[in-house]
Amino acid sequence: MEELEKGNGGAAAKAGGRDPYTTVAHDPHDGGHHGAVVMPIYQNSLFTFSDYESFDRASTGTDDIPMYSRGHNPTVRQLETRLAELQGGEKARCFASGMAAISTAILANVRGGDHIVCVDQAYGPTRELLTYFLPKFGVETTFADGTSMAALEAAIRPNTKLIYLESPTTLTFRLQDLRACAELAKRIGAVTIIDNTWATPILQNPLAMGVDLVVHSISKYIGGHSDIVGGVLIGSEERINRVNAREYLLFGGIMTAHTASLAMRGLRTLPLRLERAERSGLTVANHLATLPFVRTVNHPWLAAHPQHELAKRQMIGASSLFSFETDLPAERMKAWASSLEYFRIGVSWGGHESLVTVGRLGPGYESVPGSLVRLYVGLEDPQELIADLDRASAALMQSANS
Ligand SMILES: *Cc1c(COP(=O)(O)O)cnc(C)c1O
Repeated sequence: MEELEKGNGGAAAKAGGRDPYTTVAHDPHDGGHHGAVVMPIYQNSLFTFSDYESFDRASTGTDDIPMYSRGHNPTVRQLETRLAELQGGEKARCFASGMAAISTAILANVRGGDHIVCVDQAYGPTRELLTYFLPKFGVETTFADGTSMAALEAAIRPNTKLIYLESPTTLTFRLQDLRACAELAKRIGAVTIIDNTWATPILQNPLAMGVDLVVHSISKYIGGHSDIVGGVLIGSEERINRVNAREYLLFGGIMTAHTASLAMRGLRTLPLRLERAERSGLTVANHLATLPFVRTVNHPWLAAHPQHELAKRQMIGASSLFSFETDLPAERMKAWASSLEYFRIGVSWGGHESLVTVGRLGPGYESVPGSLVRLYVGLEDPQELIADLDRASAALMQSANS
């Protein structure tokens, strides 16, 4: 099989660090847990103390001793430690969902009167948080074309305190120049947060490029088996400690020990699954580009992607979620999607099963005709997926001609 072209990905942060395969596979021997090779699920709300001196020591927080699971649960903590290391960050906190991580991170970094600049193709519920919720507290957001530094810069106001990034974006797979965005933010004294869910901690390291905080939905590739919902926030010890002391504990959107255990199981095979995801995704994307009704395939690792060079500069490789645009209306593409055997109709992604959704291009693309189809390529055989797409496409073209 031909070798895939690898990008640079902010890999500098890994220098001196361990290879991701070792990080996810190796746990140091833990006598405190009888040498158990899998961290036990600490199904505990609280942890008790035999004397008041120990309780007081735990209460001061200096020794980071578990007291109460809204704060410190050892099963959750193991996952946090591993995710921080994988992402090249000092510290992480896990949350009940990706949105809990995102809303906590944003709310921790703004106050009434502040202004946010957000990339215009960001995940829908994130945009909703910024447009519906934050104005109630006097925080305004300007959405700007993330592919253009000039557009981002033009959106800056004297009170801009946060630049919110998502690269690649979740439907159109557009990138931001992360180093340039981080520099812009530093120049104006703003914080940067990036939703790095698509690339996972394996394929892109925004912290090494100067971004302050990274969020992931664990519900996608990290969980990897379509059976959990979770999120994580990763950054410097100082930034995470600040969130931990306030918004993390006060909002209380924590991850449970059961979920953390399943997420840890998913994490063990994340690099392995991504290698296949990248190859299968590219095989299917390249094939789709040859189909007559496909106008454009939005996949950052295709040479035709307008930001392919940037993708290679700041990512190590590609995952297997992408979209294509077609002149055909959404109704026709929904019939096409229904006729697929291996691609199931559903939101989310990152599990074993291939998925398809049909929609419009979204904000900024209202005038573009046709529809947008998002595909997630799972762990099935890519040639059988291609045969499935070809069968449905032949039927689609036949009905177009009749
Ligand atoms: C799914 C997703 C989220 C939200 O995560 P949840 O775990 O569903 O709350 C955020 N950003 C992106 C890019 C996602 O795909």
